[in-house]
Amino acid sequence: MTVAIHQTEAVADEPLELLRGMLAEQFALHTARLAELAVSEGLPDGGEDQHTLDVLATASRQAIRDAARALQRMAEGTYGLCENCHQSIPLGRLRAMPDARYCTRCRPHIGRRRWT
Ligand SMILES: [Zn+2]
Repeated sequence: MTVAIHQTEAVADEPLELLRGMLAEQFALHTARLAELAVSEGLPDGGEDQHTLDVLATASRQAIRDAARALQRMAEGTYGLCENCHQSIPLGRLRAMPDARYCTRCRPHIGRRRWT
């Protein structure tokens, strides 16, 4: 039934489904936001200035990319493993940031993005 390749045991199936849902949601939310930004950009009075629109669009594109990468890692079976030291990323960290690529130990040295 399952393919005989090494799969990560970092995240059990149940939370993995939950995290997958969160990532899909993040993907959908930011895709919708990008579309909204594109619309408001075309309006004479979009409410936000161009710089703000650019910043929001960049953040949304990044979030979409991160969510897509995380979903891909799930498909590949490497989700939940730090890309630097290959140790398991704690579930609590993944719950707070489902698209996390690094563990808490490596993150301060490598990551630069911070969710608010
Ligand atoms: Zn690490």
